[in-house]
Amino acid sequence: MPRPWIAERTKAFTSSGIRRVFDLAAKLKDPINLSIGQPDFAVPERVRQACIEAINEGRNGYSQTQGIAPLRERLQAEIEARYGHEDRQVFVSSGTSGGLVLAMMALVNPGDEVIYFDPYFVMYPSLIALAGGVPVPISTYPDFRIDLERVEAAITPRTKMIVVNSPANPTGIVASDDELRGLAELAERHEIALVSDEIYSSFQYDQPFVSPAKFNPRTIVIDGFSKSHAMTGWRVGYVHGPAEVIETMIKLQQYTFVCAPQPAQWAGLEAMDVDLSSYRDAYRDKRDRIVEGLRGYYELVHPGGAFYAFPKAPEGTTGTELVERAIARGLLVIPGGIFSSQDTHFRISYAASDETLRRGIEILRELV
Ligand code: PMP
Repeated sequence: MPRPWIAERTKAFTSSGIRRVFDLAAKLKDPINLSIGQPDFAVPERVRQACIEAINEGRNGYSQTQGIAPLRERLQAEIEARYGHEDRQVFVSSGTSGGLVLAMMALVNPGDEVIYFDPYFVMYPSLIALAGGVPVPISTYPDFRIDLERVEAAITPRTKMIVVNSPANPTGIVASDDELRGLAELAERHEIALVSDEIYSSFQYDQPFVSPAKFNPRTIVIDGFSKSHAMTGWRVGYVHGPAEVIETMIKLQQYTFVCAPQPAQWAGLEAMDVDLSSYRDAYRDKRDRIVEGLRGYYELVHPGGAFYAFPKAPEGTTGTELVERAIARGLLVIPGGIFSSQDTHFRISYAASDETLRRGIEILRELV
């Protein structure tokens, strides 16, 4: 009998659903693509220049595992000014994803339960399972609000962590100050680690961004430059939280990712001086086009941030069926079941040109 090579932990999840969508996409000749989870604008010029300069000047080696000092110090200063927490330290991670992986590895023991909200970013249940944890999804349908009573009811002596993501992928929903405060206080009261994935914090359109860290000084915040500066391929994120947690994550990073790519970290430092308001305004406008365009055609909870909308498929149609019909007409969107235990909705990414949006809306209207 040959000995099986593949480790058991890899069997806790599959990624076949999303791959099927991308395989379909690859077959479409000139798709109207509203499926992409990254900005459609170019990396700002001065950020590109900073990266090129770093490469040309030979700043290409490993950096300190916690990140180059100028970026870390700049982040630390901004974080201290914003929160004023005594025990809040930052390090530079290999993307927000790298931060999420390390947070799970640092905090989740086998059997520990981790609460998160359904619909969810695809990585959460997989990373929880990979760490040996037990994923505990809490449904937020139909309005995608955080019901604190449901969270409290889901807490057991094994609950180690709550993961929150606002603005959210895939819904674009922004949690209210009250929801975030309530969640933050709940986590504090039960001594549960609150992990806040803030990768879309720059794309909030109707009110200023608020972090649950404002209400709970032990919140672990994960953020990065991927979405804010369209540098998803450059892999620069950062994590801040209690020093003991951050030190542990740095220790793990030393022996896994080693460091974020050094030239891209110099670009990150430059990125901190870029005014993002024009990008935010452009995406607010695209958000408005989608909301207007689908009004009267689809049920849609108002998306206040990120660059996603998550409409409901018409009554009697699953998200998958709706998406199959859209794809048959050359429009690519993603079935909600990829991000959820429920297949009733679909995700639109409006990080696309206005012309692509116009054609996408037209097809979506024709489908109902
Ligand atoms: N969190 C969320 C909610 C995301 O949508 C994404 C990217 N799709 C990430 C994290 C990962 O981002 P990064 O490129 O920084 O790893």
